[in-house]
Amino acid sequence: MKATILSVGDELVLGQTVDTNSAWISQQLAAVGCDVAAHATVPDDLDAIRRAVARFAGECDFLIVSGGIGPTEDDLTRQALAAVMATPLELNETWLARLHEFFDKLGRPMPETNKVQAMIPRGARMIENTNGTAAGIDATLGVAASGHPRECRVFVMPGVPKEMKAMFTRDVLPHVSARTGGAVILSRTLHTFGMGESWVAENLGPQMMRGRNPSVGTTVSHGIVSLRINARYPSRDEAQRELDAATRACEAALGDLIYGADNVTLAAVVAGLLAPARKTVATAESCTGGLLAKMLTDVPGSSDYFTQGWVTYSNLAKHERLGVSTEMLNVYGAVSEPVVTAMARNARRLAKTDYALSISGVAGPGGGSAAKPVGTVCIALASQLKPDLRGDARYFDSAVTARTFTFPGDREMVRDRSAKMALTMLRFHLLGKPLPF
Ligand code: AMP
Ligand code: MG
Repeated sequence: MKATILSVGDELVLGQTVDTNSAWISQQLAAVGCDVAAHATVPDDLDAIRRAVARFAGECDFLIVSGGIGPTEDDLTRQALAAVMATPLELNETWLARLHEFFDKLGRPMPETNKVQAMIPRGARMIENTNGTAAGIDATLGVAASGHPRECRVFVMPGVPKEMKAMFTRDVLPHVSARTGGAVILSRTLHTFGMGESWVAENLGPQMMRGRNPSVGTTVSHGIVSLRINARYPSRDEAQRELDAATRACEAALGDLIYGADNVTLAAVVAGLLAPARKTVATAESCTGGLLAKMLTDVPGSSDYFTQGWVTYSNLAKHERLGVSTEMLNVYGAVSEPVVTAMARNARRLAKTDYALSISGVAGPGGGSAAKPVGTVCIALASQLKPDLRGDARYFDSAVTARTFTFPGDREMVRDRSAKMALTMLRFHLLGKPLPF
């Protein structure tokens, strides 16, 4: 089963309103195993809507249309559909009565213009709207109709998301799922951080081959390369089994580079490693200005493992707050492994935590040099060196790992990647594994 989703509205093609209807409808269709061939958007133009309906109806089993069935001059979807069907629009008495009832309740006469919302192409079915005044339309464009190589069921719904969703759930989706007969598309997204998209794709090997089921594709957002696995099967059990098998294959190919699935964040994964082990962390940040602390505290319950953070932006602050020696700052510069090492070591000692992370870098756009171009970021992780047999086991001295990275992109990107890399360094440490890059 294939569907096309058509959105109608000048505001959509002008980019003034984001088409959220199509995304939502696609998700609902996937849940009943209906593939979506395309999303299309056309303006409030009779001919554009007519041509789109005629074209897509000839290419798929279901055409799901939203928008353009309001009461005004610019609402032309019903007229366009009637034109494709080569039938006149007829007044639906049932819906007209409902409109009168609706306006009676408001204590207002029904504007004459609203009458058009009860107009349905001859031969089509009226779909009730429980949340508004525009009736929906359910029409079947038969193979006999000129230009249609296959029968297509067309559903027309209002553009207002709330009205559309209620109508779709109640009176559109059941008709689609009746045709797909229990089939589903189950999806899972696995997230990685630290390697580029091509590297991830190469290492996934045959998993990503086109035409496979489950299919595996990659997307990148904010430095996170995600694997999107989609399993299309006639039954939920089969889809779940195959989705799990494909997940295991991806995990086998990429190992610990995969930090989590679906809506989980990197910080939440780190939290999930720290909290059960009753370990704590502090932060000492320069170029990220507190972003790392923000990410760590975005996770509910973060007081279990996060104690405090410093934003030591100036050299003076690094010296006075975190005891980084002036000499070290002068000799190596603020963006250097010796300085982040001192920041992390001293932050851990002062905060009395199990771990401390520090970041100092050149976020740009200014401040770069030949030796340290924009994007150069030093990150350090301090952890327990060895137990102090005389006193507190945790705070004796630190083992510190420091690394220098060069992150691409603008200021926001460099800062974002820096905080995520710091979390990644801690994550691998907590897993007892070396950083794989
Ligand atoms: P309409 O049914 O065309 O009168 O649309 C009514 C309102 O719903 C518009 O003003 C839009 O803001 C909103 N809308 C229409 N289509 C969409 C869509 N595809 N995604 C999100 N909002 C929409
Ligand atoms: Mg509109």
